[in-house]
Amino acid sequence: MTLLITFDIIHILLKTLNPNIYPLDDHGISADKIDPHACQVIERLKAAGHKAYLVGGGVRDLLLGFPPKDFDVSTSAEPEEIRLLFRNAILIGRRFRLAHIRFGKKIIEVSTFRAGESEADTLIVRDNIWGTEEEDVLRRDFTINGLFYDPATQTVIDYVGGVSDIEKKVLRSIGTPSTRFRQDPVRMIRLLKFGARFHLEIDEKTFEALFESKHLIKQSSPARVLEELLRMLESGAAGPFFSLLYEHGLLDELLPELAQFFRTTSPEPSLRLLKSFDTLIQEKLLDATERALALSILLLPFFESYVQLIEEQKNKPLHLGQITSAANHLIHYTFAPFFKLPNRLRAITGMLLSNQYRFMRKAVKAAVKIPRDPMFFLTLELLKVRAYQDPSLEPVFAVWQEAFDRAVSKDLVPPKHRPSRRRR
Ligand code: ATP
Ligand code: MG
Repeated sequence: MTLLITFDIIHILLKTLNPNIYPLDDHGISADKIDPHACQVIERLKAAGHKAYLVGGGVRDLLLGFPPKDFDVSTSAEPEEIRLLFRNAILIGRRFRLAHIRFGKKIIEVSTFRAGESEADTLIVRDNIWGTEEEDVLRRDFTINGLFYDPATQTVIDYVGGVSDIEKKVLRSIGTPSTRFRQDPVRMIRLLKFGARFHLEIDEKTFEALFESKHLIKQSSPARVLEELLRMLESGAAGPFFSLLYEHGLLDELLPELAQFFRTTSPEPSLRLLKSFDTLIQEKLLDATERALALSILLLPFFESYVQLIEEQKNKPLHLGQITSAANHLIHYTFAPFFKLPNRLRAITGMLLSNQYRFMRKAVKAAVKIPRDPMFFLTLELLKVRAYQDPSLEPVFAVWQEAFDRAVSKDLVPPKHRPSRRRR
């Protein structure tokens, strides 16, 4: 009871606290780094009498010196009001209703200030109660994500101590971390995602809460958690992210078989391969962005060890058909405890894993049919990542790359099975 009252008082105090306002000289975000469409959206909302700011990831990335992935806007206007103001707006989401304003391929996400219940002790199923700007930042996850930027005055508005945490390179929950993780356990994955992406230190209380709350992750929607994992695999920071996921015990909760493999054999082969994948993504040296490619990179060392185990038991090499079944089996038992993989993703990942054996075993000249295989190109990309990490595979990669280029030049490869952009 006393505890609840204390939380309420803190909440009320925070709500009535004046924010720290940082002018351009302090934060140094130059106006030309900000998306003109996001500014346009903010101006139009303000002209209609609403409050509106840039918020979240975009402001954080600029303060940390990273190029922002996207720009989100937070406003006092309600979703219907936003829709009426912008012809190019659509409303989406039930759990979290917001507007998407489209400019060509670009989408500016505009959400209404939420009151949330920043200290409520239950799982959040819906979050559609409108509030003030102070309440809106208090219901956000981490202090670094709770900053507003006002393009008109070029100021950063900070109710949560996010600017000082960015300076100190600290990741801290807004509010009581254990409560915030109970409300939405996906925040634990987000914590490790930001830790991996920006090399931030986790604050002590947030760290303790993570340790105590990790088992709650399975109360979240499997689809939402899968989406976070897949996004991180393709983010260019998959190596450090999966390393943190393992270190903090969340991998044991989500993918127990893979965690067991890391523990009994070693996480190193997988982490090394993920790091090579990260480097190739960062340097824009991969031609394909396909989620199955990312997933097969996560699984390949585990799969190789599994095939080796069966071969040792049988005392003979598996033939390609058996390798394909082994791949499908491994994917199933790795993901089934918690996730349901979409069929297409599961099927392509299985093919990519087993095709690695096909590449190693088949003589190139006997494999004229392979370049017509729709999965050929992705298989080659997977081999490229492996060869990047293990130079002994470079000759095999070069031979298959040549076979593929030859097939393309002879028009043997249907356009849809070719890379959309060659960036080598
Ligand atoms: P990214 O760069 O990966 O997009 P992001 O922080 O922008 O990171 P989004 O999912 O785009 O992540 O969310 C935008 C903002 O919404 C966040 O910065 C944060 O303020 C808030 N937010 C997102 N997810 C949550 C959550 N689960 N709980 C509380 N606040 C959240
Ligand atoms: Mg974002």
